[in-house]
Amino acid sequence: MTHDTAALYSAYAARDARFDGVFYIGVTSTGIYCRPVCTAKTPKATNCRFFTSAAAAEKASFRPCLRCRPSWRPATPR
Ligand SMILES: [Zn+2]
Repeated sequence: MTHDTAALYSAYAARDARFDGVFYIGVTSTGIYCRPVCTAKTPKATNCRFFTSAAAAEKASFRPCLRCRPSWRPATPR
């Protein structure tokens, strides 16, 4: 996957479903992490950190978002 955070952020801002399960977003202002398809308001880019797995986000002390449930595996195979 790309490590271009600007590209990841724009995918997140667009709620691009192609990236669901590809990366996760840790929001430093709230301490939670989300899936790219989360319906919550997109945080500022400066508050976003990007992870390739939910486990990596949790290891960085982020908690799963209650709205998009990033700790759950996607229901359908990709
Ligand atoms: Zn979320």
